Amino acid sequence: MTASIPCLSTIDEMRAAVDEAHAHGASIGLVATMGALHEGHLSLIRAARAENDLVVVSIFVNPAQFDEKDDLRRYPRVLEDDSRLSAEAGADLVFSPPVGEMYPEGFATWVQVEELTEGMCGRSRPRHFRGVCTVVMKLFHICSPDRAYFGEKDAQQLAVITRMVRDLDMRVTIVPCPTVREPDGLAMSSRNRRLNPEERAEAPVLYRALTAARDRVQAGERDAAVLKSAIRSVLSEVPTAEIDYIEIVRAHDLSSVATLSGTCLIALAVRIGRTRLIDNIRVRA
Ligand code: AMP
Repeated sequence: MTASIPCLSTIDEMRAAVDEAHAHGASIGLVATMGALHEGHLSLIRAARAENDLVVVSIFVNPAQFDEKDDLRRYPRVLEDDSRLSAEAGADLVFSPPVGEMYPEGFATWVQVEELTEGMCGRSRPRHFRGVCTVVMKLFHICSPDRAYFGEKDAQQLAVITRMVRDLDMRVTIVPCPTVREPDGLAMSSRNRRLNPEERAEAPVLYRALTAARDRVQAGERDAAVLKSAIRSVLSEVPTAEIDYIEIVRAHDLSSVATLSGTCLIALAVRIGRTRLIDNIRVRA
């Protein structure tokens, strides 16, 4: 039998469900997604299931975080499958509002985290994090979660949201969850669906490059420039791969490092065909 759970589309309905949960003293876990769910998302839902009485999965392709119209248009939308998968992973409710419900006529208020959003993905996608923070803030207000689960796959997003919650004294606890990968190392992503078979075969080069760099760090290399050039050399195995950025940053504030020390993130954004993929790996120097 396939599991089935309510799919709410209005803020009023969602608030009523939250009020009812609170009336019973229930804790709420939120997994915010843009849908086209895969094992990465499902691992977040399972983590939420283990720690909360009510698990809400939001599915909303947020136009405000797309800098490219074409990317927004091509983003996969498969709500029925997503509802079923959410239920099977243990969610109690899906919240999937239409765009007009989240951004009504005259919408004019934005949440902007500074500094952390300037480098990495923020450089080539200048309005992306403003869109992410605004929609996440709205989802937090609508769903009142005690805990919200975010993937380390999107390391900059996780850092930015953690900072927003701290800076604005929000009550929610942000729970980081490890990156889930395909057997060949490719980080799972809804955008992987857009890769054609040749591109899909090439895409694991991101993880190969990251692990090559990690191996160098483990062998004692501390020079970021040397590590970046090792990454470039692995990526050059796929001549069509177009590098957006290779960054080595301190994990806690995402500041660039020239010489690695402490916990650092090695992060990449690479275009394979028309699809931009990101990935990162954490290293201890
Ligand atoms: P998205 O639907 O891409 O906005 O992602 C929704 C949430 O799932 C975010 O917190 C992501 O970081 C997380 N996520 C996406 N891919 C993965 C993955 N491969 N492993 C773990 N978490 C992921």
